[in-house]
Amino acid sequence: MEDLFLKSFTCLACGHDFKSPKVRRSKYVVSKVDTDFCTYYKKENPLYYNVNICPVCGYGFTEGFTEPGEKTKEELKNKIFKFNIDFTGKRSIDLAILSYRRAIDCALLQRAKNILLAGLTLHTAWLYRFSGDGEPEKKYLAEALNYYKEAYERDTDVQNIGRMLYLMGDLSRRLGNDREAILFFTRVINDKSINDAGIIRMSRERWQDMRGTK
Ligand SMILES: [Zn+2]
Repeated sequence: MEDLFLKSFTCLACGHDFKSPKVRRSKYVVSKVDTDFCTYYKKENPLYYNVNICPVCGYGFTEGFTEPGEKTKEELKNKIFKFNIDFTGKRSIDLAILSYRRAIDCALLQRAKNILLAGLTLHTAWLYRFSGDGEPEKKYLAEALNYYKEAYERDTDVQNIGRMLYLMGDLSRRLGNDREAILFFTRVINDKSINDAGIIRMSRERWQDMRGTK
């Protein structure tokens, strides 16, 4: 527990004050980062502690969540249930996955933004990658890709388009759709409004990786 500390939160659904564990920043030791930004840590992985689970009503939320409307709060009361599990200590990979799946359920119930759901499903895919479970990893990668596409096509307030297009390319590549991946990478490389040099370089690298394996 020495790498963790308890942070105070107020449940966005029922208003209960509770504490949820987080990894101390000074204990972050990155060992590796995958091409889709999935990050591996030598010690505790902060991703495991991203979701706060309310011990009273079972609502699960991350930083990006907004307070649900009154009608949705009622709906949440009827559809989610309190876990008989303690989320305040060290989390196993299974517990981390459980917390993320609850956050996804809550985000869907309150019709959260595509970009929030994209992040939640991508993170869940990473958790399955850590556990070596390839099937659900692919399922969640595909969901994340769909939410990113929706956000790209419909939402006007999306930040960092270059990074999002790159991710859409990398997720397409991971899901075996090379043709689509190349379209996204090309868009990053050719779009003059994207000036993130790191993302442009990574898009070129992925494109070249794909040529190399053909
Ligand atoms: Zn609550």
